[in-house]
Amino acid sequence: MSQKKTKDRNSENNYRRSPALVLVLVILIAAAFFMMSDAPFIKSARDSLMQKLGYEAIDQESGSENSGEDGSDETGGGKTAEWDVNADLDPSSLPEFNGQNYVKVNGGIPAFPNEVCERAGLIKDGDSWKTKGNLMGTVDSHKLTPYEYYGELDDRGRCTVAYGLLGEETMPAEGQDRGDISSVHPSGWAKAQNWERCHLIAWALSAENANPSNLVTGTHYLNYDGMRPLEEEVEHYIWNTGNHVLYYVKPWFMGNELVARGVQMIAWSVEDKGDGISFNVYCFNVTPGAEIDYKTGIVTTEEQAAQDARTYVINTRSGVFHYPTCDGVKEMSEHNKKTVTATRSELTSQGYTPCGACEP
Ligand SMILES: [Zn+2]
Repeated sequence: MSQKKTKDRNSENNYRRSPALVLVLVILIAAAFFMMSDAPFIKSARDSLMQKLGYEAIDQESGSENSGEDGSDETGGGKTAEWDVNADLDPSSLPEFNGQNYVKVNGGIPAFPNEVCERAGLIKDGDSWKTKGNLMGTVDSHKLTPYEYYGELDDRGRCTVAYGLLGEETMPAEGQDRGDISSVHPSGWAKAQNWERCHLIAWALSAENANPSNLVTGTHYLNYDGMRPLEEEVEHYIWNTGNHVLYYVKPWFMGNELVARGVQMIAWSVEDKGDGISFNVYCFNVTPGAEIDYKTGIVTTEEQAAQDARTYVINTRSGVFHYPTCDGVKEMSEHNKKTVTATRSELTSQGYTPCGACEP
């Protein structure tokens, strides 16, 4: 206790001894207030001062300088590294589903085409982004432009891309009801296959209803296990902070297929530079255990496959049944070979066992 008092007295003495120090402190505090305040009259004064000091000119120069770089340094602070779609996902060899809801792309680090950021009112500042007229790397919420963009369908009627700067401004108003989207039949939509109309940008983030450029043919698994937890993360973040999130969603199709193999989702919270939201992932458009024909949208579940009658070859001596194309059939003696048309479950219920090689 007595020690603290002594300390206080000392510091008081210090102030009394050096009024110059007090003056410097007051100026520093005033300057900090001037730079950081959100009061409109202070902000406009600050912006005009910054413009006089030539900050805007510097911004634009550094922006064009950087656009020429190929962004090879994409790690660490480079959360908004140059977009190089070929380095991210290869449409001819998309990630294989291995039981996980999604996999990281680009190490999970968001990367956006410049246009996505520029439309939001952001300008390039080194390897980061800022709003016009602001100090290095700072973002002024009020200078951002919330927006949504939905790419046109391609010549096969497939969704291409959806992106925007999401915030409370783009979200449905309180009490707003979801609209009917059943009129939209996205590419690859086949009846009675349990397909869902899957929003690229979720309704809760965009208030978009029957927009054909925002709906793809997706599985319940893609919708609820893949995309939804990420969408909710963004939704809750925006409600809790009032901040904005750059958001980019792209369905990935293989060749001319009509059903997307997966959906890439990239999100990055702008005001806090990714502290709140930062991901770059590929979600699988699959149903675990089912086989999907991505050209036609026909889904075959394991149970259905077992119920389909087809041609099998039984080895009557061993009791093993094969697909006719199996090597085991070629090696089988004609004497033991029996070709049948049956369902898989009929054969197993008669005591036959499936071949371990061709796995009928
Ligand atoms: Zn076999």
